[in-house]
Amino acid sequence: MDKKGKVLITGAAGFIGSHLVDKYLSEGFEVVGIDNFLTGSAHNLSHLDSNPYFQFIEADVSSRPEMEKKGLFDIPSMEKFDIVLHFACPASPVDYFKFPLETMKVDSYGTFNTLDLAHKMNATYIIASTSEIYGDPKVHPQTESYWGNVNPNGPRSVYDEAKRFSEAAVMSYHREFGLDSRIVRIFNTYGPRMKINDGRVVPNFIYQVLKGEDITVYGDGSQSRSFCYVDDLVEGIFRFSTYMGLDGEVMNLGNPEEYKIIDFAKIILQKMNGSSKISFKPLPVDDPRQRKPDVSKANKIIKWEAKTSLDQGLGKTIDFFKNVIMESPEK
Ligand code: UDP
Repeated sequence: MDKKGKVLITGAAGFIGSHLVDKYLSEGFEVVGIDNFLTGSAHNLSHLDSNPYFQFIEADVSSRPEMEKKGLFDIPSMEKFDIVLHFACPASPVDYFKFPLETMKVDSYGTFNTLDLAHKMNATYIIASTSEIYGDPKVHPQTESYWGNVNPNGPRSVYDEAKRFSEAAVMSYHREFGLDSRIVRIFNTYGPRMKINDGRVVPNFIYQVLKGEDITVYGDGSQSRSFCYVDDLVEGIFRFSTYMGLDGEVMNLGNPEEYKIIDFAKIILQKMNGSSKISFKPLPVDDPRQRKPDVSKANKIIKWEAKTSLDQGLGKTIDFFKNVIMESPEK
């Protein structure tokens, strides 16, 4: 079978990365995935062990080959990619607090490495940016034209500022070299293959209810988030990366349905028929007060909107976590 093209995905063993691998394979592409398993898991790709169209390279995309005198992540120099997606990066606050320097390196050295690769191969380049670049937003909902309100050196800055740096680098390659580069700003996303202990609100609340522990609401729970199911997100990224004529574009992707965290806790409790109590914990430093994507651009340009209801998406995610706990009850 003739393949549609070849795609390189960094962070392929991560939550969103592994779903992207599946999506491009199912759309008829060949895929090469890279990951160093800092926060990703080989388990997320184990179903592809015998897929002839998927190749995995264990490597650190932040390595500096000119200093280490090695090849660029051991990719054979003849290999040609049509699309490069740079999705390697810890994305949970708990993870990037634990790995602050790795987070900054993957969105600086890692971004340059992958940009150079895309430039050399004349590939389309997509960077995973984030709603975090809006910081604690003063514009609501957040449109792509909003510049954000970010603490440049607080604990979250290792992620927020690194992603802002990546955006600047990506646009510089576009302006300097005419690279077909595109920026996707991903809002809170959930679904199967999230790590049960990654500290984000969806796995935390589901795990706590499954274990009969208290649900930990940070602050008074009046802060808001909007949750997008991973299949919807991946469909949006696929369209954004394959539509013609979107070079230099920035696009929000997310589900605009907004919930206060306290209400979200009650929804999960009710859906799971749980008996957990809610206990309030201190709000993390610089925790954004509100977040909701304006997705009118995605709506118009790639004809995309999130389709999965919270009820459906949570159902699949809860089933996934139930299995994780059954397979290793010590978790
Ligand atoms: N949160 C919470 N309890 C938890 C985990 C998170 O109340 O056990 C809150 C957190 O303070 C934030 C929101 O839920 O306001 C989303 O947090 P998450 O870590 O999932 O992602 P963020 O949107 O902050 O990157």
